[in-house]
Amino acid sequence: MQLKIGITGGIGSGKTTVCKVFELLGVPVFYADAAAKEVMHTDEELMRGIIGAFGALSFSNDGILNRKYLADIVFSDDKALEMLNALVHPAVFRSFDKWLLKHKQYPYVLKEAALLFESGSYKMCTHSILVKAPERLKIGRVMERDNITEAEVRARMVRQYSDEEKEALADYSILNDERLLLIPQVLKLHELFISMNPILA
Ligand code: ATP
Repeated sequence: MQLKIGITGGIGSGKTTVCKVFELLGVPVFYADAAAKEVMHTDEELMRGIIGAFGALSFSNDGILNRKYLADIVFSDDKALEMLNALVHPAVFRSFDKWLLKHKQYPYVLKEAALLFESGSYKMCTHSILVKAPERLKIGRVMERDNITEAEVRARMVRQYSDEEKEALADYSILNDERLLLIPQVLKLHELFISMNPILA
């Protein structure tokens, strides 16, 4: 059976960077956060659900998502955010399932999701990896990458579990602290996953 490995980490931990290394090894990566944006204008069931829950103004006449309108509703109302997530998560699963069909021949695939544990989607993966980094590094990286202040980074971190909470749920971890080398850590896991599934390799 193909392994489905969920990979996550706090904002700025370097999960996308780690995924790029796996991609260099030929491993397919599904980026759940990018998929969540895409399904907003490709998944008709989701689009109908959004209009049903938040009204016709959620989309313009030519079918483009009115992000500002929706953001104003959900970021001031936790119940509305929950409702939106309950519509978006199944659509991302539908998109992941379609993607899996196209990548059946690989011994394992990765699913990168910032909220893998918080959303419960790790339960649909066979294993999970947590990318960890010290908080000061995570904050510094995001401030530099996105040109924002420390307070803005911290505000984005609010909805995420702490590394300790995530570590209790993760099967494997990668430390991206700019001291321990990343590539050997990725190679070790790659070899392990291949050895778990030698038939497809
Ligand atoms: P987010 O959740 O915000 O998308 P992320 O966990 O996917 O973040 P990345 O985008 O991979 O993190 O990394 C954040 C920034 O830190 C990027 O600009 C990346 O180039 C840089 N970075 C990540 N790891 C390292 C490293 N080991 N050495 C130097 N820079 C790094």
